[in-house]
Amino acid sequence: METPNVFERTFEVSNEYLQGYTIKLDIRHYETVQQIETELKNLIWNFVVENNLTIIGDKIKIECFHIHDVSFEEIMVNDQNNTHFWICSHCAQNN
Ligand SMILES: [Zn+2]
Repeated sequence: METPNVFERTFEVSNEYLQGYTIKLDIRHYETVQQIETELKNLIWNFVVENNLTIIGDKIKIECFHIHDVSFEEIMVNDQNNTHFWICSHCAQNN
């Protein structure tokens, strides 16, 4: 059994091309949801580029990816490692 890292949070992509792609972040490195979003977008885009996933790269709009309906405080207090915070790519206001 791995010792749970109380500072680790799990984020999972909801997107038709990258559904289920999961990223773990150490929450100590961030102070706002926006900082987390920026980091996630960088990591997702790096994953696509580094693996030469050119079709996916053409299809997704990385600038639309976001976390919503959750505050930084809610992310902070969840230390059970059992919640997946969704990285959404579907909201009209972000397209
Ligand atoms: Zn959304």
